[in-house]
Amino acid sequence: MKPTCPSCQNKINSTDIKNTIKKGMFFEVEYPYCQTWIRLNKTLEVLKKLGVSLLLITSLLNIFSIKSEYSLVFSTVGFVGIIIAIIITFFGKHETVK
Ligand SMILES: [Zn+2]
Repeated sequence: MKPTCPSCQNKINSTDIKNTIKKGMFFEVEYPYCQTWIRLNKTLEVLKKLGVSLLLITSLLNIFSIKSEYSLVFSTVGFVGIIIAIIITFFGKHETVK
């Protein structure tokens, strides 16, 4: 499933997107067919970054065997984190930038 443009409801192919700007921790992209600037819902964007960070942190803890008695817990938490990030990437709501 691909995200759809909130303004014209067309599906968004990531390969079609040419213009991207970064505002703080948020990305805004220009949808080429209707020239609408869109971004991922801010709450979802934060959750997505959190999920990716969880995977990163728990992986590092496991690689360096820090608190290795919790390695199974870390793996589980990291897995859940990346699943959340993936779900948001595919199903997250986009909104137009005002
Ligand atoms: Zn559009």
